[in-house]
Amino acid sequence: MIQVNGGSSMAVSRLSLPQLAPRAGAPAADRAHAPDCSECPPPAPDHVRAARRMIDSHGRVIRDLRLSITDRCNFRCVYCMDPGVRFMERERLLTTPEIIRVARVAASLGVRKIRLTGGEPTLHPELTEIIGGIRAATDVEIAMITNASRLSRAALREWKQAGLERVTISIDSLRPERFARLTRSTCTPGDVLDGVSMCLDEGLTPLKLNAVLIRGFNDDEAPMLAELARRFGIEMRFIEYMPLDSGRAWDPSKWVAAAETRRAIGARHELVACGDDEASSTARTYRFADLPRDASARIGFIAPVSSPFCGACSRLRLTADGKVRPCLFSTREWDLRALLRGPSTSDDAIAGFLIDATWTKQAGHGIATPEFEQPARSMSAIGG
Ligand code: SAM
Ligand code: SF4
Repeated sequence: MIQVNGGSSMAVSRLSLPQLAPRAGAPAADRAHAPDCSECPPPAPDHVRAARRMIDSHGRVIRDLRLSITDRCNFRCVYCMDPGVRFMERERLLTTPEIIRVARVAASLGVRKIRLTGGEPTLHPELTEIIGGIRAATDVEIAMITNASRLSRAALREWKQAGLERVTISIDSLRPERFARLTRSTCTPGDVLDGVSMCLDEGLTPLKLNAVLIRGFNDDEAPMLAELARRFGIEMRFIEYMPLDSGRAWDPSKWVAAAETRRAIGARHELVACGDDEASSTARTYRFADLPRDASARIGFIAPVSSPFCGACSRLRLTADGKVRPCLFSTREWDLRALLRGPSTSDDAIAGFLIDATWTKQAGHGIATPEFEQPARSMSAIGG
C-alpha cells in the first residue's frame, strides 16, 4: 500500500492499542467510498476507528494539522518552486466550507493545532472566512505561515479578530539583491521585516522566523539571520534544505547540516541547548548564553535530514486539492476531496477516512537512505 521508506529510529513508545476498547456503534462500516478504491486508505483496525483518534500503526497520535489552502504563490523560491510551475485548476482546490468542515472533523478527532499554509496562504481571497470558520467550529490553536510579502496592519487585525493566533514568517536572506534572486520576487527583506514588526505589534505571537540555507547561496548569512532573534526577541529557526523542490535541484552538496549552522552562529554568540522542547516539536531550540535564561530570543534548528524527528511526529497534512498526506514525504496520498464532494457524506465518514489515512503513516522519511524516493509534489503543493 504505502511506500515505507523506513529510516529514522522510533523515539516514542508504542501505544498499547488493544487497550482502546471498541465503542458501541462505532462507525466501522461508515465508509462512503468503495472498499477497493485505490485513492482511499484501507480500513484501520476496528479498535482504532472506535477510539475516535488519529493514531498511526507506529503508535503516534496526530495533534497537528497542516492545512494547505492554496498552491498559488507570488514567490518562486529556488528551493521550493520552479518559475515554470503550473498551478492546479481552481475547481480542484477545496472550497472554504470544505476546508472548514475538515478542520472541524479533525478537531473532533484530537487535533489541537491547525497551521494554515500553502503556497502562500495570504493569496487566498477568503482567508478571513477560513480563519473565522475554523474559529467558530473548533477551539484549536490557529497559526499561519507566510512569506510576509502581503501583510498590512488592517489585514493582520482582521485575521486576528477572526481567530488567528500566531504567525511564522519565512526569511532566507537580508541582502536585497540575493533575496530577489532567491525568491524571484520583487519583495525585499525590508518588506518582510516590516511584516515581522507588524505581527509583533498586533500580538500575533509567539512569532517565529524560518530560513532555509543553501550552500554557496545564502549559508554565509546564518549569523546575520540569527541576529534577528535578538533584535526582535523571537525564535529564528533554520530548516535544513529538503529534497522537496519542484525543480528537483536538491543534492547533498547544497545541503547545510544544522550542526554546521549552529557552529557558525556559535562563533559569534555562545548558544546553550534549552532542553525544554516538546518531543513532537520539529525544532531543537537554543538560547543565547549572554541573555537571561527566560529571554524570548532563541535559535531553533529543524534538521529533518541530519536528525530525523519522525519518531515523535504528530503531524498530518491536507493539500489544497484535498489529498491527505500522512507524511511530508508520502509517496501515496488519499483523496478526501472525492469523499467531501460525494452525495450526503457524513462527518462520521470523513472522520473514518482521516483515521484510516493516519493508520497508513509511514515510520519515517528515510531521506538519507538509498531507497529514498522524492515525492512527486513539491513543498508548495504539499504545504510546509
Ligand atoms: N509561502 C509560505 C512561506 O514560504 O512561508 C508558506 C508555505 S512554504 C512551502 C512553508 C515553509 O516551507 C517555508 O518556511 C519554506 O521555507 C519551507 N520550504 C519550502 N521548500 C523547502 C525545502 N525544499 N526544504 C526545506 N524547507 C522548505
Ligand atoms: Fe512560495 Fe513559500 Fe514556496 Fe517560497 S517557500 S515559493 S514563498 S510557497
